[in-house]
Amino acid sequence: MQILVLGGGFAGVEAAIKLRKYKHEVTLISDRDYMFIYPVSIWIPVGKRSFEDTQLKLSELAKIHGFKVIIDTITKIESQKNTVYSEQKTYTFDYLFIALGMGKVKMNGLNYTHSICGKPEESVVIKEQIENLITKGKGNITVGFGGNPKDTTATTVRGGPAFELLFNISVLLKEKGLRDQFKLTFFAPMAEPGKRMGDKAYSKMDSFFKHYHVETHFGKKIKEFTDKDIIFEDDSKLDSDLTLFIAGGDGLQLIKDSDLPLNDTGFIQINEMCRVEGHTHIYAIGDAAAIIDHPWAAKQGHVAEVMADVATFNFHNSLTGKEKRMSYWERLHIICVMDSGDGAAFIMRTATKEIMIPLPIVGHWMKKGWGWYYKNSKKKRMFRIPGM
Ligand SMILES: Cc1cc2nc3c(=O)[nH]c(=O)nc-3n(C[C@H](O)[C@H](O)[C@H](O)COP(=O)(O)OP(=O)(O)OC[C@H]3O[C@@H](n4cnc5c(N)ncnc54)[C@H](O)[C@@H]3O)c2cc1C
Repeated sequence: MQILVLGGGFAGVEAAIKLRKYKHEVTLISDRDYMFIYPVSIWIPVGKRSFEDTQLKLSELAKIHGFKVIIDTITKIESQKNTVYSEQKTYTFDYLFIALGMGKVKMNGLNYTHSICGKPEESVVIKEQIENLITKGKGNITVGFGGNPKDTTATTVRGGPAFELLFNISVLLKEKGLRDQFKLTFFAPMAEPGKRMGDKAYSKMDSFFKHYHVETHFGKKIKEFTDKDIIFEDDSKLDSDLTLFIAGGDGLQLIKDSDLPLNDTGFIQINEMCRVEGHTHIYAIGDAAAIIDHPWAAKQGHVAEVMADVATFNFHNSLTGKEKRMSYWERLHIICVMDSGDGAAFIMRTATKEIMIPLPIVGHWMKKGWGWYYKNSKKKRMFRIPGM
């Protein structure tokens, strides 16, 4: 039996680990030879974490957990033919777990911006750009995020990392004694950026902007980015020596070109068991899958892992004739520790509850501790806390 997992991120790695726990042979295909721990990558641009330390080598994980890894780029998926094509060869499968993540909305002049949510290497480029400006001794740094006009649930907006990067840069500049020489601006096209974290968290954002001396620019659509500014729909401009922008999420072109059922944004339609609609042997998990009926939810790493857990459980039970099934909807919530360089805020949101607890200093160390825990628990060097 050939079980393929496509993608070596949060969802793919967790699926491969869980499939091995159920004693299935599994092959994971990824175009990178490492898993990138995005939540702690926000410290790479400010020099507080190395690029290498933010990776988990897939070969090491494969050895520890007993799955097979192939480093290869998938180019085409033909679900009706049970076939996946890549740069190197053609793979056929009996069962498929798609965990390829998401792409980003194309915008004019995006090449003049850098994103902390893009290719992992981009975090190092951002670090170099910040260092260049620090050497110059002054400048305008703008940090922002956008949405996807096609996405009604707004699960494709990734605001948290933009805030984290922004506040961390402010702390770095202060540590260098240069805070007064730099103008830091947060910009977003929507009127209420950050609302996804919940009303409570959103209402506290003003105090964060004041504390870190950040100017704000909301509610105007972005026309284009240039090498020196951001131009808005009314042709007003925001000067920028360095633009750090997280574009809205979009379905990957590879997925859009496939024969899989998709929503308008290009995410794969799944049921609450994470099985792709109309298929009995294909699951889609993580950022690549469309979250429906929960408009408050967000695409997150822990949701990707919940989906992997749910999909592999349901797969195993259906294969072994057991009736019990799991729903990822029952375990859906937003949870994050939003780091600000010298502190953090704990944010949690469910369909009915919203929590925001400021955690000065200790929150920063909690998030650092999570990064350490994540790596070591995945390497089986320590006990795994259920649900984390
Ligand atoms: C800066 C940042 C901070 C974040 N902070 C948090 C946080 O604090 N908490 C939280 O819960 N979530 C956080 N997130 C969100 C979280 O990282 C994502 O939701 C998560 O990575 C999704 O996992 P995934 O496996 O679906 O996709 P990814 O992690 O993106 O993995 C996709 C995988 O597919 C592979 N791939 C892509 N295309 C191909 C191809 N054609 N062929 C072969 N392989 C391919 C990639 O190499 C990668 O291995 C953050 C995200 C970012 C960017």
